[in-house]
Amino acid sequence: MTQSTTMSTTTTTTALALAVLLLPAGALVASQEGADAALVAKARAVHERIFTVDSHVDILGPTYATPALDPGKPTRLKCDLPKMKAGGLDGVFLAVFTSQRPDFTPAGYRAARAEAIDRFDAIDRLAAMHPELCELARTPADTERIEKSGKRVILVGVENGYPMGDNVATLKTFYDRGARYVTLVHGSHNQLADSSGEAEPKHNGLSELGKRAVAEMNRLGIIVDTSHASARAFWDVIAVTRAPIMASHSGCAAVTKSDRNLDDEQLRALAKNGGVIQIVALGSYLKEDSPERAEAIGKLRRELGRGERGRRPGGGQPSQPLTPDQQAEREKMFAVYRQRMEEIDRQFPGATLKDFVDHIDHAVKVAGVDHVGIGTDFDGGGGIKGFNDHSEALNVTVELLRRGYTEDQIGKIWGGNLLRVWREVDRVAGK
Ligand SMILES: [Zn+2]
Repeated sequence: MTQSTTMSTTTTTTALALAVLLLPAGALVASQEGADAALVAKARAVHERIFTVDSHVDILGPTYATPALDPGKPTRLKCDLPKMKAGGLDGVFLAVFTSQRPDFTPAGYRAARAEAIDRFDAIDRLAAMHPELCELARTPADTERIEKSGKRVILVGVENGYPMGDNVATLKTFYDRGARYVTLVHGSHNQLADSSGEAEPKHNGLSELGKRAVAEMNRLGIIVDTSHASARAFWDVIAVTRAPIMASHSGCAAVTKSDRNLDDEQLRALAKNGGVIQIVALGSYLKEDSPERAEAIGKLRRELGRGERGRRPGGGQPSQPLTPDQQAEREKMFAVYRQRMEEIDRQFPGATLKDFVDHIDHAVKVAGVDHVGIGTDFDGGGGIKGFNDHSEALNVTVELLRRGYTEDQIGKIWGGNLLRVWREVDRVAGK
């Protein structure tokens, strides 16, 4: 769900930093603003030394990485290359997302595969359009080399195993196109696993095909992603995987009750597995909406026609390329949605950066600091006050510093843990 755009704290703090420079040194001590400016300066210095990555960002529509929507320039997207740079974010996993259809036939799989290939192509276009700004990474070593070069690191995850069809060999095609994780399932059940989004199970966890897919991902060096999977599917993955796993964009159920969040038992299992939970920045998973807020959002979504809670008003991305007229219509609908959401945010405030960091705190307390990371779901519904796009990534670090996290711990959370998981997955695969 889209949240209102707030005034960039980065802008505010830059102004503060300037003010601080003009003050006599002693004036800093008593000033809260001065303390904030010192924390921001420290956060910026930390970001220069650590590797920072967001494990889950969606790409928008068929015009992504064309002159019509060029993430190399400032855009309306929450993730573009200038915003990443401004927020001190080094890398991002872009999602090859396909919407789930209740069609488990060769024709259905073929259509989903075509949709996935379009998204792989779009990510390749981004890298080809801006070779001086970003580069696609295929290994942890690639990732570190690109980060050191000062370019943004582009990584690929596949969200929804549906386009795999009934043939695990398709996973090799995804791997060859750059995919380094696959989210087994999305908002409804597929051929591999049960989704957390449906009440009645289909497989009671992982299907037999799903178990074979996990084994094939272990063999290839693809991280298994259990975000969106039902609890039973999660436990099946834990039982069969030979490598650490990841929840690429999830929260903690003990903090906010949601079928998308992991309970403490799952967090402890993830730690034992050597894996990582990447905390999501999507408001409704971070803080329960007040009845008034929930009602206002529900009413707006109904008015605009479609879409489940927790995703964009369009209910995901169109499965067919849109005509220019349809695209314009869609853009208009999003503009209305964003504007009306700003009104709702003003009237009934939703989750903030503090709620987001509360989930990090809880996951660290239960799973340990070696098993927590960040996966925003920007441009797929993520975005909260204080961390509404990548230009505000530094705010997260400021809040972590304020709560007493050390640079070493922040480095783990912002990317070190995910790189460790990836390396271990590669080691298991014999790479
Ligand atoms: Zn998702």
